[in-house]
Amino acid sequence: MSPSADASCLFCRIVRKEIPAKIAFEDERVLAFHDVAPKAPTHVLVIPKTHVARLSDASGDHAALLGPCLVALTQIARALSLDSYRVVINDGAEAGQSVFHLHLHLLGGRAFAWPPG
Ligand code: AMP
Repeated sequence: MSPSADASCLFCRIVRKEIPAKIAFEDERVLAFHDVAPKAPTHVLVIPKTHVARLSDASGDHAALLGPCLVALTQIARALSLDSYRVVINDGAEAGQSVFHLHLHLLGGRAFAWPPG
């Protein structure tokens, strides 16, 4: 599937700039933007521009997407001066996934409990 080709996907629409977002990072493969309903003082979503519904749909073909997302996340964290943060991927509705375009949550600026709820 070509980048952001899913017409109805909310995050594909953000990639295509049809829906506004506060962009934190962008390159040819990755987009990162601030969460509209932040769960921490810093809450950025990092997504591959190519539509992959969820982590468990990722196959070997997607290896070239996932690494750049993680590297972008570390760059964003550094740029935002976060030296301690949590990275979350919710995979599936029961795990809390509500938007079915793979995304990494970068959460920082407060302490986090373990185990997560
Ligand atoms: P998840 O529940 O893991 O699928 O995470 C989806 C996240 O997307 C939630 O934290 C939402 O607050 C966030 N979200 C939903 N719509 C938007 C939007 N238009 N712009 C930015 N973040 C959004």
